[in-house]
Amino acid sequence: MSDRTRRIAESARRIRKNALDMGELQGQGYIAQALGVADVLAVMYTDQLRIRPQDPEWEERDRFLLSIGHYAIALYAALAEAGVLDVDELQTYATDDSRLPMSGMASYTPGMEISGGSLGHGLGVAVGMSIGLRHKGNPARVYNLLSDGELDEGSTWEAALAASHYGLDNLIALVDVNALQADGPTVDVLRTEPIQAKWEAFGWNAVRVNGNDIEALVTALDGLREHRGSPSVLICDTQVGRGVPFLEAREKAHFMRVEPHEWQLARDHLQEAGA
Ligand SMILES: [Mg+2]
Repeated sequence: MSDRTRRIAESARRIRKNALDMGELQGQGYIAQALGVADVLAVMYTDQLRIRPQDPEWEERDRFLLSIGHYAIALYAALAEAGVLDVDELQTYATDDSRLPMSGMASYTPGMEISGGSLGHGLGVAVGMSIGLRHKGNPARVYNLLSDGELDEGSTWEAALAASHYGLDNLIALVDVNALQADGPTVDVLRTEPIQAKWEAFGWNAVRVNGNDIEALVTALDGLREHRGSPSVLICDTQVGRGVPFLEAREKAHFMRVEPHEWQLARDHLQEAGA
């Protein structure tokens, strides 16, 4: 394992641990998604994004748009890894007057570029930002993290059409395909496969990787940065509850209730697995 991969893996482990700590404060939450997407966020926030932690509004920063607002618990942990948030502040998660609400909101949290939660808006905003940055000659990139459930939204595909029409090669979408959404398994709610072929048909440069394989993520994202002429999408297959076997196996994982005694068990599993 290279130093680069090891550093990112350690960050992913802290993201998982901090997400569990935040979840414990509420006794429940979007824990399964946070554990699943931790590797993707660790790669982004400790390796890929060009940001200045002390200056979250820096004009040339890469924009990371979380349209899936319920993944905020994981993003706060990633912002702490990046140094945008102080790790101690994570203890205020979802409490009154906290800057870290349960669903991500731009007006509350440094580094949160958009308010998410009502799915299907992120990619449209990302397209507008990408066009604006290009007009200004600003070299920043725009990343948008979507979920597979968000592919049910017609507005996502309308934005995808526009992005390829305008040749937005400063835009990279990331799709967390965990095969699950609020109402059940994605395959039962609304079939979205073959996902890669659909993006390609919409004119996107599409790559698919195991979203829990840090080396694969880094290689893919390094490659996408060099792509020119069309927007890119990285389809990331992730496992809900990744790193904690009894949470990986739990049904009704979208909004997860975890018993009081299970939080420490979960942390112990992470420690053992080195996950
Ligand atoms: Mg999903």
